[in-house]
Amino acid sequence: MHKHQGNLFILSAPSGAGKSTLYKALIGQDDKVRISISHTTRAPRTGEEHGREYYFIDDESFLDMIAEDAFFEHAQVFDHYYGTSKKSIFSMLEQGLDVILEIDWQGARQVRQLYPEAIGIFVLPPSLNDLEKRLTQRATDTTEVIQRRMAKAVSEMSHYHEYDFVIVNDDFDVALSQMAAIFTAMRAKTPIMQEKHGNLINDLLSL
Ligand code: GDP
Ligand code: ADP
Ligand code: 5GP
Repeated sequence: MHKHQGNLFILSAPSGAGKSTLYKALIGQDDKVRISISHTTRAPRTGEEHGREYYFIDDESFLDMIAEDAFFEHAQVFDHYYGTSKKSIFSMLEQGLDVILEIDWQGARQVRQLYPEAIGIFVLPPSLNDLEKRLTQRATDTTEVIQRRMAKAVSEMSHYHEYDFVIVNDDFDVALSQMAAIFTAMRAKTPIMQEKHGNLINDLLSL
């Protein structure tokens, strides 16, 4: 463990539950939180930028990165590859920043094996009906893609119990404050406070 190392969070949810909206809002109000930018072979959606939402690369480059052992974890989701590079997380954690991985349950399992201190948060929609409405309202995917994502939603949600925390994203502000509370609480864990306030604790205990 490095000094003042940040916490690593895994954020998962069925597509459309609101995880991107949640982490973006959290980052807007907490300057100690960063998102890890994944590599993907899927095409950018309207409004998405290379290096902001994802690094958009082709299959060949993705396979090269696997061969070079550049990934912390990777998985195939909806016929595309998605992966978290080692580079994208460790330097931030070492700077004491909290890092969010927005990854699916398969990636989450790999991360827990490699990094058991990772804290898992699963976001659920208030209903299947709302989930479909949100995917439709987001207007970034075709009807066929939305149907495939809906069909996968139930199997993705069945992994919710593998996570440490569950947030139901019904009222957005409530969901955001729950997420912020989790981040705040995890920074107050005793081993972290011992590192951060070692001198204070020594002073207090030395009479
Ligand atoms: P969204 O679910 O609508 O945000 O759709 P995306 O295309 O952004 O993500 C597709 C799936 O890939 C989701 O289940 C993500 O959690 C997952 N995913 C995204 N990035 C990563 C990653 O770096 N690693 C893994 N394992 N999964 C990822
Ligand atoms: P994900 O990243 O999980 O796929 P998004 O963050 O893209 O999901 O959210 C899907 C859509 O639902 C977006 O259009 C977003 O604005 C909307 N949304 C997110 N949270 C809520 C909420 N609590 N109530 C209503 N709509 C929401
Ligand atoms: P979308 O195509 O809608 O951006 O993402 C679809 C799914 O892929 C989401 O559930 C998202 O969490 C997952 N995903 C995105 N990036 C990664 C990644 O780097 N690794 C893994 N395992 N899953 C990812």
